[in-house]
Amino acid sequence: STLQEWRRFNKTRVYMSDLESALHYSLRVELSGHTSISGNDLTALKKYIHVLAKYFPGRPSVKSTLKTVDSWLQQQKGTEIKYSDFRDVLDNTVQTSDAVLPEGVQWVGCQGSQSHYRGYPCAFWTLFHVLTVQAKEMGFPDPQEVLQAMRGYVSSFFGCRPCATHFEAMAQESMDHVTSLSAAVLWLWSRHNRVNNGLAGELSEDPHFPKIQWPSPELCPSCHGLKKTGEHHWDQKEVLTFLRHYFSSAHILMDYLQ
Ligand code: FAD
Repeated sequence: STLQEWRRFNKTRVYMSDLESALHYSLRVELSGHTSISGNDLTALKKYIHVLAKYFPGRPSVKSTLKTVDSWLQQQKGTEIKYSDFRDVLDNTVQTSDAVLPEGVQWVGCQGSQSHYRGYPCAFWTLFHVLTVQAKEMGFPDPQEVLQAMRGYVSSFFGCRPCATHFEAMAQESMDHVTSLSAAVLWLWSRHNRVNNGLAGELSEDPHFPKIQWPSPELCPSCHGLKKTGEHHWDQKEVLTFLRHYFSSAHILMDYLQ
């Protein structure tokens, strides 16, 4: 765990470099641990890639890669695929076009003060929030599409198994009650805060990035209110407005892209 030299960044913004790095890590590192993929895992992978192809607000070459992989996967009618075939399509060794997903990771907003902090889990959360917000903006009818796709991916593939178990328990408890795209954005926000609450003060916490109930009053003053009793309360309407801005495609910074 060497001390990292900081890449200059704004702590209150989303970076495309983190999102592309999350895709690289998910599709080339995490999935590569599965030599062949079948059954529930294959269904989960198809839904995950489909949601990425539909909603990832990326550069044209990255979007085009995701669409190529999505249509290849939808054509696979067998009960099993080989990871190596998936990888060939992803790396474009089959088709020839300008579609590429950059190799390697470059954490920016998700960099940690030491190399074992943050990175992929941070960028995976960020990706997940961006996708729920994109789905809201694009207005497709199924309010659970993104949540269920990400749930399936986490359950089948997310490398941190305690995280997957914990997330699945939260999903089982209340994800089915989500009936609008706005509720999906807020569901994810509130579950992420529940995870933050459980992790505050733990050893896994990067001292430079304390786990807080997010967004802070500095980041979103109007999100915070007080009840008559003096208790804190979230103004959910303001939180939704804030999330739709914070994670919107127009607000994502393009610095440090490969
Ligand atoms: P993260 O929590 O990763 O958040 C990334 C960024 O998102 C923050 O920097 C902030 O800008 C923003 N953010 C913070 N809170 C919210 C919010 N409520 N809504 C929207 N945006 C927000 N680790 C464990 O030790 N145990 C677990 O059970 C566990 N479960 C996990 C489940 C999932 C699905 C995932 C993706 C990760 C899980 N992790 C778990 C990892 C952990 O939640 C953090 O991702 C990790 O500790 C890195 O923390 P971080 O400081 O980078 O902030």
